[in-house]
Amino acid sequence: MRFNSLLFFLLFTVSGFTQTSDSLTLEKIYGEVLGSSSCYDNLRVLCKTIGHRLAGSPQADAAISWAENTALANDFDTVYLMPVSVPRWERGFTERASFVLGNDTVALPIRALGGSVGTQGVVQGEIVMARSIEELREMGREKVAGKIVFLNKPMNALLINTGAAYGGAFDIRSQGASEAARLGAVACIIRSLTLADDRYPHTGAMSYAEDVVKIPAAALSSADAYTLSQHCAKEPVRFLLEMNCKSYPRTTQYNVIGELKGSTLPEEYIVVGGHLDSWDIGEGAHDDGAGVVQSIEVLRCLKAIGYQPKRTIRCVLFINEEFGNDGGITYAEQVRLRNEYHFAAIESDGGGFSPRGFNLEGSDGHFERLNSFRSLLEPFGLYQFKRGWSGVDIAPLKNERTALCGLSVDTQRYFDYHHSDNDRFENVNKRELQLGAAAMASLVYLIDQHGTE
Ligand SMILES: [Zn+2]
Repeated sequence: MRFNSLLFFLLFTVSGFTQTSDSLTLEKIYGEVLGSSSCYDNLRVLCKTIGHRLAGSPQADAAISWAENTALANDFDTVYLMPVSVPRWERGFTERASFVLGNDTVALPIRALGGSVGTQGVVQGEIVMARSIEELREMGREKVAGKIVFLNKPMNALLINTGAAYGGAFDIRSQGASEAARLGAVACIIRSLTLADDRYPHTGAMSYAEDVVKIPAAALSSADAYTLSQHCAKEPVRFLLEMNCKSYPRTTQYNVIGELKGSTLPEEYIVVGGHLDSWDIGEGAHDDGAGVVQSIEVLRCLKAIGYQPKRTIRCVLFINEEFGNDGGITYAEQVRLRNEYHFAAIESDGGGFSPRGFNLEGSDGHFERLNSFRSLLEPFGLYQFKRGWSGVDIAPLKNERTALCGLSVDTQRYFDYHHSDNDRFENVNKRELQLGAAAMASLVYLIDQHGTE
């Protein structure tokens, strides 16, 4: 017994001496975040009392007030709003679609793509299906004019990086309607950008080229796209579409900013952020309620453990990432106007899933420094430190002096929820959400202590 006690004492003492103050601080950060439900509670309030919050909407106004009040309640050193001009588009109340086979009419759920014009009554026509924009172009005007184009391009399920799969199919949503309109189509429907096999249609931004007639554009669920494609392969199929979405003049909303002031280098900024807006369906829980509450949590937990940062730690909750990145662009303009030195910016916009590490956009020096943190972060399950995409909101901050980091998470389920009615609070795991916040806070701490290169 005595021997065991002695051994325990010796082991404890030795390990105590070899543990650096960095790893002790990281343990404190993880202890604080995992021991508090603040992050998850904030997400519940954002999702359940405000819900979805498209930029320009009254819900986005409510989210801005909520974020400002939450930052104030956490007693950050500075809390303020930055005006941003945002577009305003409304889905309207009517979204109906059906297809006709002989004497049968089959209704199916659809979601207008963000920015689409309405149908002004019912639009109908025979479907012409294409597997890609290139295939559509090859069909030419005589096959497409007067018809409804169905772009049935699935995301590539063989890619392990689902973001790359999304990028590979993104063109059917962003440019599909313009390409179809150029060939005289009357409407464009697309297969949703998802890897899930279900009946949730997924919306998202689209825009019209300047030289085309604006035709309505909407998404079908993956399951309905499959059913429709089976019919289209066998026989002519008529499609009916009715939507009353509409665009309005731009309006002013705000980026919400909260800071912990730096003690010795207050003019150097480390930004953490996510986007406050979401698409106008579901609750914007993964996209990007998670990034919002994690960014708030970074400042809350550093303050709670009594950490006194050298540099100013700034939480930026950007407005309108989804439909033009106005918040990110305006923020970067303000940074240039004020001549603020941004040391590093870290974004979370890949959903509240288990963190794996960080993606980095920056110099070789930045990358070396990030890699030097590896041994401290690996015990917390963070092992992926790669060059790669950081985030839409922070992308306009890109310059050779700023390290841009994106929280890298397990991406396998993100597109099941992304931009759909299924992106709800219940689909975010509390622990995974917290681990993401703790990972961001840990990186902020290490960058503040050791610099970026
Ligand atoms: Zn997002």
